[in-house]
Amino acid sequence: MNIIYGLAFFILVCSQYSLAARLAHTKVDFVGLSELNEGQQIKVKSWINHGIDATQKTLGPLIQKNVPIYLKPQYFAFEAVPWAEVIRGEQDGVELQFSRYASLKQLKNDWTLYHELAHLYHPLLNYEDFWLSEGLATFLQNQIMKDSGIITYDNMMMRLRAGLERGQSNTYRLSHLQDARLASVSSNMWQLKAQQRVYWSGVAFFLEAQYQLKLQQAKYKTITELIQAYQACCKVSEQQSGRQFLTELDKLSKTAVFNNLYLKYKNRTNFPKLKQKHFNAM
Ligand SMILES: [Zn+2]
Repeated sequence: MNIIYGLAFFILVCSQYSLAARLAHTKVDFVGLSELNEGQQIKVKSWINHGIDATQKTLGPLIQKNVPIYLKPQYFAFEAVPWAEVIRGEQDGVELQFSRYASLKQLKNDWTLYHELAHLYHPLLNYEDFWLSEGLATFLQNQIMKDSGIITYDNMMMRLRAGLERGQSNTYRLSHLQDARLASVSSNMWQLKAQQRVYWSGVAFFLEAQYQLKLQQAKYKTITELIQAYQACCKVSEQQSGRQFLTELDKLSKTAVFNNLYLKYKNRTNFPKLKQKHFNAM
């Protein structure tokens, strides 16, 4: 009996150790740091390291060894982080435009960095499936900010409800379109100014999916647990279709939740109507 306990303890220590070692291994490569003065460099490093720690706390370790961060400090900006995007490559990275005068607190309170880092947990998807990747990153950014205490649970729920309302009104505004299917609107998101509909239809998708995972008592009962498992086993570096990505999520959760919902969402012309039960699954 003692041997079994000893062995179990040994395995526990080893797994804890390997998790810590992997967390420590995600190295940030700063590009453009020298454009900042010494004080600004310290602030920016601390902001980025905090963002990576917060993201990994919720979503688990990133498998890629390095995360390139391309810094574009601005002299004039109306927000702390007015623009950012993921740069896909051998090592996926993030480009950040930010105000060089924003305080550390303002930078940490801004959602953009968590959103972009969340994108590193899924492969690049096709344009028509943009609603899926943007929905996922928006869903996860709120979880990350809540888990690390930047926002409260109530605040997260408020942000989700407000975003869904913006998605709904944006959908009304676009109802004159001849082809108003979510997949088509996603392909032309910028020209159509359809960001709110695209992003928040995707958030609704993941809210519904999490409700289903819990209802079906799936192997992973939250999107964050599932994405953590996906990152550890299955993330590919090539571009994929949304269908391929979701098939992996279905395989991992041993359900058909994602493919079924995908069929319901990709050609829809209306905005999804969520019920209280979906919010209760958060
Ligand atoms: Zn995004």
